[in-house]
Amino acid sequence: MNSFSPTEDTIAAIATAVSPGQGSIAVIRVSGSSAISVTKTIVHIPGMHHWSTHTVLYGHVTEANKEKYIDEVLVLIMKGPRSFTGEDVVEIHCHGGIIAVQKILERILDCPNVRRAEPGEFSQRAVLNGRLSLTQAESISELISARSRKAAELAMNGMEGNIQTTIKSIRQRLLEQLTEIEARIDFEEDLPNLEEKNVKHMILQIKKEIKELIDNSKRGYWVRSGLKVALVGRPNVGKSSLMNRLCKKEKAIVTDLPGTTRDVLESEIILEGIPVTFIDTAGIRETENIIEKIGISKTKQALNQTDLVILIFDYSYGWTAEDESILKQIPESIPLLIVGNKSDLKDNLNFKKVKKNFLDNENLVIISAKTGNGEEDLINYLLKLCGSYNSHGLDIALNERQLDLAKLAMISLENIDQVFNEKLPWDFWTIDLRQAISHLGELTGDDLTECLLDNIFSKFCIGK
Ligand code: GDP
Repeated sequence: MNSFSPTEDTIAAIATAVSPGQGSIAVIRVSGSSAISVTKTIVHIPGMHHWSTHTVLYGHVTEANKEKYIDEVLVLIMKGPRSFTGEDVVEIHCHGGIIAVQKILERILDCPNVRRAEPGEFSQRAVLNGRLSLTQAESISELISARSRKAAELAMNGMEGNIQTTIKSIRQRLLEQLTEIEARIDFEEDLPNLEEKNVKHMILQIKKEIKELIDNSKRGYWVRSGLKVALVGRPNVGKSSLMNRLCKKEKAIVTDLPGTTRDVLESEIILEGIPVTFIDTAGIRETENIIEKIGISKTKQALNQTDLVILIFDYSYGWTAEDESILKQIPESIPLLIVGNKSDLKDNLNFKKVKKNFLDNENLVIISAKTGNGEEDLINYLLKLCGSYNSHGLDIALNERQLDLAKLAMISLENIDQVFNEKLPWDFWTIDLRQAISHLGELTGDDLTECLLDNIFSKFCIGK
């Protein structure tokens, strides 16, 4: 566990979204040793009450001079350690909007020993007091930010501790190997021989497990942040029409004049619970027009941030040299789908013949943005890419911070291959093993400095 302890301050913050006219109820969270006494001074509860733990009291928050009420409230009391932070926690449920809730928070902050909570400070205290693991706290944050059902499901798995359990198990096995090796270094004669190839085999197994986590985290990223799809192609091939059809929104301007989609437009749809953002672009091509040039440079920027490029061409007209030049400009690292549009104008053209003779590409879909023909094939392709049709499912997805550390652990373990090949002594194995263990410990929060912890929680929002 971490060796540092939380502060003695009592902290307070509004835990719900604050917006005028929105949210019929708001919640103010207070945590720390003065939480209950502070609440007693600002809330008038009729009759005698014991302020027992895990009870709800009804009352009114009063103005400082006690002459007027600010709001009618419910007070939820949770004495430590049976609370979110492990400290005494009071939640004041008042009416929503902005004025009453802010006035109540001001009343609380005027009390001695109370200060406004820093972003993520409630969760940080929960972690420091052993109520939550670090990855569980991160998963709560992810649940709140989830924009799709699948993202919420992944966050819930993390809250139940599956990331923590998986990484701890890997780390534990590495620790056991390190102990074995260190024992051989210290007491070589007294212990049975340790075979290098057996240790290497065990490390290989662990590398497989970490690799799977790393690979899955890319799919997890799509589930959380959504898939970004860039639509590129010559002017008038139907990029905006396709985007409009898919998004069922009139966000892009559809026109007959070439080059009118001069900027990068974005629209989002939710496919099987996964957000898919389409970026409609001005098309990658050379132009003399300054305004278009701006759009085109944005296109190139946007391309580098996408998970899939859909290159649209006019199927009724055929594949042109300009289409070919756009194709050549798409980075090979990004998955590509080629879409032939306007199939309604070329009814009698045999699709298979075209696919074979004209564009021998597995990733080819023929559609009509006008009639909707072929739209299903396109959506199925996207769904396949999202991984939502994957029978193995996806139940662990590391976030960016966790992924970086898993990759570092992997690098350390890969260094051991060299140590093995060069037949270096056991001391060399321990260096890389210790590094890997340390990275995984940072991932789970077992091996963290206070500064790193502050950094992680500062990215959370206030009241969390
Ligand atoms: P963009 O410049 O690539 O965004 O192309 P637009 O979406 O603005 O479309 C250019 C023109 O082609 C418009 O007149 C559309 O109505 C027309 N169009 C787009 N898709 C289709 C289609 O599938 N079939 C037919 N017949 N016309 C289409």
